[in-house]
Amino acid sequence: MAYTVFKLTDYSASTLLKTFADAKLAFGDGMREVKSEAEWKVFRDLWMARKNGILTQINDQFKKAPKEAKREFGQHLNELKQYVESEIDGRHKFSEDGSGQLAVQFESVDISLPGVRRPIGAEHPVIKTSNEMVRVFQKLGYSVADGPVVETDYYNFEALNFPPNHPARDTQDTLFISGQEGKAQRERLLLRTHTSPVQIRTMEKMRPPIRIVIPGTVHRNDPADASHSPMFHQIEGLAVDTNITFGDLKGTLDHAMKEFFGSSVKTSFRPSFFPFTEPSAEMFVSCFICGGSGKRGAEPCRPCKQTGWIEILGCGMVDPNVFEFVKDNGYDPRKVSGFAFGMGADRIALLKYGVDDIQLFFQGDVRFLQQWA
Ligand SMILES: [Zn+2]
Repeated sequence: MAYTVFKLTDYSASTLLKTFADAKLAFGDGMREVKSEAEWKVFRDLWMARKNGILTQINDQFKKAPKEAKREFGQHLNELKQYVESEIDGRHKFSEDGSGQLAVQFESVDISLPGVRRPIGAEHPVIKTSNEMVRVFQKLGYSVADGPVVETDYYNFEALNFPPNHPARDTQDTLFISGQEGKAQRERLLLRTHTSPVQIRTMEKMRPPIRIVIPGTVHRNDPADASHSPMFHQIEGLAVDTNITFGDLKGTLDHAMKEFFGSSVKTSFRPSFFPFTEPSAEMFVSCFICGGSGKRGAEPCRPCKQTGWIEILGCGMVDPNVFEFVKDNGYDPRKVSGFAFGMGADRIALLKYGVDDIQLFFQGDVRFLQQWA
């Protein structure tokens, strides 16, 4: 029902009291009738509009009131204003689902209710592990390099000296983007299977000497199990300069592992094969769980399979064939040499935190993840 602003001739205390009580009731009735956001705006303006809103009209009446009634009138007016403003500010809240539905809250605020807790996010354990390892190399003067996750066959394989029939090119291992049969093989897109393409991309942009560490996600067509995930994280490194030797590789990685796992760990290198390094090695660290004894009390140590050693990364001296692909940017294999290494951040996080299933890292269960918060 529309409310018409009073016009007083009698300014007695009782009339003022009743007049303002009526205005307050009219406001409450009007508010209950509001059903939509559009109606709400009309209602709000009806009462609050600076120009000709009900409160403004009552204020005009106040100006006309006789001197002796001003004090009492003013008190009622202020009270009504505060009431209207606080009701409009506090009792109406529009739902946030975009429906424009009005959520009317007629209960007063219960100040004894606990506040709404907004949890602060935390670093994911794999990212945390990756960042910690990256920092170890940053302290050694390495800078962080980055590259695309969707790569071409050229950067992922060819320029890294993968011969055409190398088993790693098999679609069993690699996730290719579909519908590219018309393209030349080197231009076909795939999800990078390692962070190594960033080595080539960086050497194309930067002349030697170079020291980079490359963290990032990689993908392989591995079925998910306790130790495999089709998506996982690598940390890769590359150092190129004149006269870099295998001794530099060993010294750098031995230092990095002591910095990361603690000064008591030992490192051991065993011959291996990677297409992009020659010679290649796998590096083991002495088991930081059992201290290298292979036993935890009377129990066998599972993470190191009782050997006292844990395989942690692959490494080697950059194959001269790889430098041939970036020769024009100062990487003449007769003049420069370098070493490269790569490790799995997820695997290191599993070992470091004693987690027995890699899937837990990627299921997004907050109860699991908040242990690192
Ligand atoms: Zn062990």
